[in-house]
Amino acid sequence: MSVESSTISILVINAGSSSVKVALFCFEQLGLAATALLDWHGRDDRASLTLSLPGQKPDTHTIEAPDYRSGVAKSLSLLQGAWNDTHPAKLTIRAVGHRLIHGGEQIREPVRIDAAMKQHIASFARLAPLHIPPGLEAISASETALPAALQVGVFDTAFFAHIPPAAFVYPVPYEWYKQWGIRRFGYHGISHAYCGARVAELMGRDADELRLVICHLGQGASVAAVRGNVAVNSSMGFTPLEGLMMGTRSGTIDPGILLHVQREHGLSVDELDNILHYRSGLLGLSGITSDFRQVERAAADGHRQAQLALDVYAHRVREQIGAFAVTLGGLDALVFTGGIGENSSWLRRQVCQGLECLGAYLDDQKNEVASPDVDIATNDSRVRLLVIRTREELMIARQVRRVVASESSNMTET
Ligand code: ADP
Repeated sequence: MSVESSTISILVINAGSSSVKVALFCFEQLGLAATALLDWHGRDDRASLTLSLPGQKPDTHTIEAPDYRSGVAKSLSLLQGAWNDTHPAKLTIRAVGHRLIHGGEQIREPVRIDAAMKQHIASFARLAPLHIPPGLEAISASETALPAALQVGVFDTAFFAHIPPAAFVYPVPYEWYKQWGIRRFGYHGISHAYCGARVAELMGRDADELRLVICHLGQGASVAAVRGNVAVNSSMGFTPLEGLMMGTRSGTIDPGILLHVQREHGLSVDELDNILHYRSGLLGLSGITSDFRQVERAAADGHRQAQLALDVYAHRVREQIGAFAVTLGGLDALVFTGGIGENSSWLRRQVCQGLECLGAYLDDQKNEVASPDVDIATNDSRVRLLVIRTREELMIARQVRRVVASESSNMTET
């Protein structure tokens, strides 16, 4: 972590399904100055809060946090307190950037958050129930804690604003799109955009000339196809339930199954919603956990369902890469990111099997010891295989700084 002389900062809040990541960046250089990680670990009203400040060991507390709003409020207050205790100059937070998962068709850029924008975001809550309510609670906590700061929303869907109609329209009656707005949106866009820019840096190439398939494999998981720095497709769809198998989400399944289990087995819409979001994926198949690392351990101990869960997971990632490589007309680099993509050498090895037909050759040794950001392809592989640590918070801070700069220049002009 680096600290610059200025204490003017940008705060980033990334509210996820069971944790909130907070990062403080110095305004000028965007050096990471402090972080707070709030994690409920599946419990209801108490969470662990880990504060990391420069030159100090991470400090973990348990805090009472019955909801996201109070958890974020306490995290911000403890983070500011810890900063002020160790720094002579007071911290001034100029702007807060919020990761927001859904902005709909109209929002293609980061926006200033006001009451109308909050209502707009709330209108998508049903589509992403794991993320939108926590995101709105985080906004409310930060508005109260930091009334003078500009609140900016950075949207995951924005990166996919330019995917073509052939990729975003579903083959259902066209009125579903025109009247109900049912279309593919794509998610994890902040992470995919960061990785796309990072690939260009690592390869020393212009992003405009690269064809990329980016696999973001975390608790949620998606693949993006990117050509010339513009996303052309996403495995996630109208909701973040489509596409790959995930920790607790099913990903794509035959829609006929949904009709069948309702008709023949009496499952209600709410039961199905719960099962597909919270009881499927790695958890549903392994029968033990949604945590990839633990599923790997169980499989290594001979748990057959755990092995099956891993095999299905890898199969689906490989299948999606193949489809997107064809969509792009070839591949310059394949990226692995997210907790699983960055850390599981087993998964990367499985996924890369068969990719030789695309000109992608994995170096097994490099893969085993990979520490991101790193290239794990053989030297003569035509396609680079890159493991990149995603930095969504940095990407958000970059965009927020641009919004602050443009608001300042507007104020100067008027
Ligand atoms: P989130 O989407 O919540 O940000 P992450 O990107 O942190 O999630 O990814 C979490 C997933 O990464 C979990 O399934 C976890 O088991 C997996 N993971 C983390 N470290 C490892 C590891 N060393 N080996 C395999 N899987 C790992």
